[in-house]
Amino acid sequence: MLDRQTLVLNRSWRPITTTTVRRAIVLMARGVAGAVHPATFEVAAWETWIEVGSRAIGSLRGIGFDFPVPEVIVLTGYNGMPDAPVSFTRRNVYRRDGFACVYCGHAPRSAELTLDHVVPRSRGGPTDWRNCVTACVRCNARKADRTPSQADMRMRRQPTMPRWPGGLDPGQLAERPVWHRFMPANTPGLAK
Ligand SMILES: [Zn+2]
Repeated sequence: MLDRQTLVLNRSWRPITTTTVRRAIVLMARGVAGAVHPATFEVAAWETWIEVGSRAIGSLRGIGFDFPVPEVIVLTGYNGMPDAPVSFTRRNVYRRDGFACVYCGHAPRSAELTLDHVVPRSRGGPTDWRNCVTACVRCNARKADRTPSQADMRMRRQPTMPRWPGGLDPGQLAERPVWHRFMPANTPGLAK
């Protein structure tokens, strides 16, 4: 339970990162963060949080007292927006591209999507956010070992490094519906 993740908001309620419940509790105990009630958005400081603990569902036991696990905390002083990197994975490239082929726009099931190197690996193209795009099996086969211009194919958009709040992996987001209401509307992976 202590290693579960807690969403961290800055003072303006922008999601900036995640941390462990353990660390979230330390921040609260130090008075630099408050726990956000997921339904009412009320912010509970440390004393209040412990007080409501005995009544809460999903309380954390075994460390001397019971209190609810903070799912979201808000920092009381910090107002920055650190640039946390999004992990480069095939799945996250698909997410960035909306699970659609950048060449034809087709959005098949993800088993029929591939990761295409814009500049092929054989020509020294790196495996990174700017050289990897989502392509359907057909377009990938048609493009083969060529660049888009050599294959006379056009990309619908240029690949860039995505910026998701706090570098948050949308896969993680899918498992934490409570966090959704704290995310900007255009965050990939949000329930529609
Ligand atoms: Zn395609």
